[in-house]
Amino acid sequence: MGLFFYVIFLFMDNIQMVDLKSQYTKIKTEVDTEIQKVIDASSFINGHKVKEFSKSLENYLGVKHVIPCANGTDALQIALMALGLKPGDEVITSGFTFVATVEVVALLGLKLVFADVEAGTYNINADIIESLITEKTKAIVPVHLFGQGAEMNKIMDIAKKHNLFVVEDTAQAIGADYQMDNNSTKKLGTIGHIGTTSFFPSKNLGCFGDGGALFTNDDLLAEKARQIINHGSKVKYYHDVVGVNSRLDTIQAAVLDVKLKYLDDYKKARQTAAKFYDNAFKLSKNIIIPERNPKSEHVFHQYTLKIIGIDRDELKEYLAEHKIPAMIYYPVPLHLQKAYINLGYNENDFPVSEELCKTVLSLPMHTELTVNELKYITETILNYVKK
Ligand SMILES: *Cc1c(COP(=O)(O)O)cnc(C)c1O
Repeated sequence: MGLFFYVIFLFMDNIQMVDLKSQYTKIKTEVDTEIQKVIDASSFINGHKVKEFSKSLENYLGVKHVIPCANGTDALQIALMALGLKPGDEVITSGFTFVATVEVVALLGLKLVFADVEAGTYNINADIIESLITEKTKAIVPVHLFGQGAEMNKIMDIAKKHNLFVVEDTAQAIGADYQMDNNSTKKLGTIGHIGTTSFFPSKNLGCFGDGGALFTNDDLLAEKARQIINHGSKVKYYHDVVGVNSRLDTIQAAVLDVKLKYLDDYKKARQTAAKFYDNAFKLSKNIIIPERNPKSEHVFHQYTLKIIGIDRDELKEYLAEHKIPAMIYYPVPLHLQKAYINLGYNENDFPVSEELCKTVLSLPMHTELTVNELKYITETILNYVKK
């Protein structure tokens, strides 16, 4: 280690995978004021900030309806319920994602049909979706993994041709622009029939607890979703459909309404850090930088490399010894998880997903990374790889 880096190493605060504290510190006065207002009014559930934030997000996304709910997992479940999917209906999604995407499909008694992902972008391989469609197929659930859009133009064409619904899991990609075939630009999550997101603290737009939302341009679907989140009720104590209880707290809405104003700045900070990583690693033959979908902006919920020809897990350990956190998203593809073994999938069924689980490594990515930290992280990795 050069002297410069040794000095940085000694004086640097611990590098974090996600630094929520420093991000909060910068907007503390604004956030604290809004939280205090909610407490003063003591309107903790369905307070006016919930509606205000929904309107702000509708404007930001350019979508007709934002329906806030308790978390991103609920948002996915409510979306599938609002579409009226019934047990036995088939839903196509990828198995290289966070478990929430498939969990709700299983909970509703729907049949999960996995598709493999693209080796470069890690997103669902749209070219194989059509081969998986049967007369029972009702929906496709693309996940915009790590902050970058799946092939939405192709997916929407397939959905139209086969009369299928599309639910976009946008938990990791809120704020990303996507270029449609007709050259119009849409925000990810507003292209399919319903989009869902999560406001989990570490997500790109995160609150101070749990939160989530659904997006749709369809008035009828919006009405159904609003009814489902409210115990299946439109008029209090009259329940027309089986619903759930899933609400965004007023305090969380107040935090989110402040943070939404900074979302584009946060996006730029993440993209700047990603560019630094790209430039540092692009010539390495052991480190493959994330491939970009030319149609999609990448908002880098995660910056995820593929480590080739050297042991990924040993590199991760080496980084830990040098106080650099790194994470493996995701270590086991969902088709091989114990909970989903009854689907009957086997090893080698989805070779790309399986290979990714063995090679991916996500580096620290958040809005507060400094150039010194980025230098230290990239130099440490490159030093190791050269050995
Ligand atoms: C975080 C996440 C979810 C679930 O969100 P929660 O708010 O934690 O329930 C769903 N899908 C993906 C892809 C996620 O990353």
